[in-house]
Amino acid sequence: MDRTDAETDWPLDIERTSGRPDSSKVIDLFSDSQTRPTEGMRQAMARAVVGDEQADEDPSTLELCASVAEMLGMEAGVLLPSGTMCNLVAVLALTNPGDEVICDESSHIYCTEAAGSAAIAGVSIRPITSRYGVFDSVDVLRALRSPSRTAPRSRLLSIEQPTNFTGGAVWPLSQLRAVRDIAQHHGLATHLDGARILNAVAATGVTASTFAQGWDSAWLDLTKGLGCPVGAVLCGTRELVQTFWQWKYRLGGAMRQSGVLAAAGLHALEHHVGQAAIDNQNASALHQRLVSRSEFVFDPLKPETNILRFEVLGVRADALVQACLARGVRVRAIDHRYLRAVCHQDVNSNEVEQAADALIDAVATLLGTA
Ligand SMILES: *Cc1c(COP(=O)(O)O)cnc(C)c1O
Repeated sequence: MDRTDAETDWPLDIERTSGRPDSSKVIDLFSDSQTRPTEGMRQAMARAVVGDEQADEDPSTLELCASVAEMLGMEAGVLLPSGTMCNLVAVLALTNPGDEVICDESSHIYCTEAAGSAAIAGVSIRPITSRYGVFDSVDVLRALRSPSRTAPRSRLLSIEQPTNFTGGAVWPLSQLRAVRDIAQHHGLATHLDGARILNAVAATGVTASTFAQGWDSAWLDLTKGLGCPVGAVLCGTRELVQTFWQWKYRLGGAMRQSGVLAAAGLHALEHHVGQAAIDNQNASALHQRLVSRSEFVFDPLKPETNILRFEVLGVRADALVQACLARGVRVRAIDHRYLRAVCHQDVNSNEVEQAADALIDAVATLLGTA
């Protein structure tokens, strides 16, 4: 792709590059958030025992929060409408306006979330540049500011396990602990964005509670690999969760009979936890089919979890999105160059094979080599 061409075409036409499908038959690799609740999940939701969440009287929500907290090795948890609100509430609870958050430049908290941490929490972000969203303690040291009258106060370290926009990379446990320790040594709070932590667990065999050990806050998304329609659970100490609750309420995230949503989460914890390993495997299978073609360039070279990030030499990402859609497959253009494909429970191994065929055919047509 011609670089000037890409630059003059900025900004991306999001509607076009998102390629919204008009048919439910599309093999949808846009994101693992594109799952539909299963029949069993819908039944669990319909049968949910409910009460008033704001008064701690919704049994299903209480059970879900306790289960996720236990999974992450934390004292308590709170159900929030989205992962985005988990990040925002954690930042609000762990910082003061004018503080600075250290995170990777590709992180969800920095690149999306409509700058909520700046707009609502009043913090600035100190982004770290790294290869795949996985940095080390020297990077943290360099990003830390010396206490001074004029500098922002470095206050919070936030990381993603696994990463999202950099291709689902997994932090090795020792590296995760090293950045946690250096941050805490310098008085920072630590936040672990574990939207897809179960994919990191499936990839490594390390438990979620081991990854989250020693972090102030950690959360799990119910709407990524777990296949729920709504929600995420943010965890921490009992005391910190009190503060999370105040922010949840202030932001309008406190609900009433949230048990209908929590029931989906409980159903997922019982039936869908094993899906992460299948999704990782499917991503690996898709990678194996495509990597044998020299036009497909993967970065990272291999998927560690359920996300593939790649470019196709000589083809614009948005053009490939359109060509794939015409063949019944939806992938996402991250920018002009890179595409993302994410495996999840609504795409089985046969459909992964079909998606590979469609991608190969689309590229051959676009390059005129068909
Ligand atoms: C999806 C995602 C979020 C936001 O979660 P939502 O439930 O979509 O609001 C935050 N961080 C990471 C790493 C994610 O992948």
